[in-house]
Amino acid sequence: MPNKYNVRAEKITTESSDSKSFIFTPIDNEEGLYDYLPGQFFMLEAKITRPESIVYDKESKQMIPSGPDVEVVEKKAYSVVSSPTQKGQIELMIKSEQGVFAPYLLDQFHEGDTCTLIGPTGKFMKEIFEQNSKFIACWSAGSGIPSTLSLMQYCLDNQLGTKVVAFDSNKTLDDIIYHDKIKEMVSKSEHFKAVFTATRQPLDQLPKSTSDVIYESGRFWTGENTLSKHTDNRGFFDKLLGKKTNWLEYFNTICGSSSFINGKGRDKAGKMAKLGEGVEDHLLKFECNPSNIDKDQYYLQ
Ligand SMILES: Cc1cc2nc3c(=O)[nH]c(=O)nc-3n(C[C@H](O)[C@H](O)[C@H](O)COP(=O)(O)OP(=O)(O)OC[C@H]3O[C@@H](n4cnc5c(N)ncnc54)[C@H](O)[C@@H]3O)c2cc1C
Repeated sequence: MPNKYNVRAEKITTESSDSKSFIFTPIDNEEGLYDYLPGQFFMLEAKITRPESIVYDKESKQMIPSGPDVEVVEKKAYSVVSSPTQKGQIELMIKSEQGVFAPYLLDQFHEGDTCTLIGPTGKFMKEIFEQNSKFIACWSAGSGIPSTLSLMQYCLDNQLGTKVVAFDSNKTLDDIIYHDKIKEMVSKSEHFKAVFTATRQPLDQLPKSTSDVIYESGRFWTGENTLSKHTDNRGFFDKLLGKKTNWLEYFNTICGSSSFINGKGRDKAGKMAKLGEGVEDHLLKFECNPSNIDKDQYYLQ
């Protein structure tokens, strides 16, 4: 049964033009607050002021607000960025998708303000801990990065020696959320690696790659097995196995929008449809075992 916690925003940091991170501390009860594993989430409940009606317009593909401003209490799910090893605080990251809650909260919620967290809950990444997976590829797009960071911090603090490769996709370099934090995390462990791709920015405008922080341009999996490229026999020597690792040994976690995960979205008529291919499709095409894939869909798009 998820608990409710009254929390205060101790620190709010702008992470990109449309996202902020929030470090929350408990105001009173904190029993069970840190009883979570990487991949789990809290419902964040807060009071916001927004137009009375906000309706999705299929033509412009935008949310159209109308009517007078009203005060509402709304709650949405946010994955934990911090690790349960970091007691005393819960970090969440919120990115605006131009919807009915996040843009208003990002605009109106300030340091010192209070809200409610309900949780922790969720099954994403649970298999990693149940199977004691030692090789993990975390695929994220946009706001899908929180669980990857939580997992890396958790592996580091518990000295698990788990290989974690973060594959993070964004439109441009400026859209990467927690860019510095990810690089810093990778620098803390020989077991970590990050592969960033900018889908709408050419390679010559991206930083120079190093052996463990790599920059690419375009979508992952375009004409290649991206996982194999960055994990197989390319200097990723595993001390536990005493050999270079094979990409099929990796457990894959995929987090973000439906289009990133499996290419599904709404067609022109607003109906659910398969519009393209996502990371899961590519993994399966290369005969990745389906039991080595876990998904966390944030929204349909
Ligand atoms: C388990 C879980 C964990 C999550 N963790 C995070 C996290 O760590 N960070 C984070 O930023 N988000 C996270 N999310 C997403 C988050 O819960 C919210 O969905 C997100 O903040 C958007 O909420 P919103 O109300 O502002 O947008 P919504 O109003 O829900 O809109 C979301 C998108 O859908 C579009 N849309 C709305 N209605 C329609 C329609 N009828 N047809 C077509 N498109 C439509 C909107 O234009 C917008 O682009 C998570 C979601 C889940 C389920």
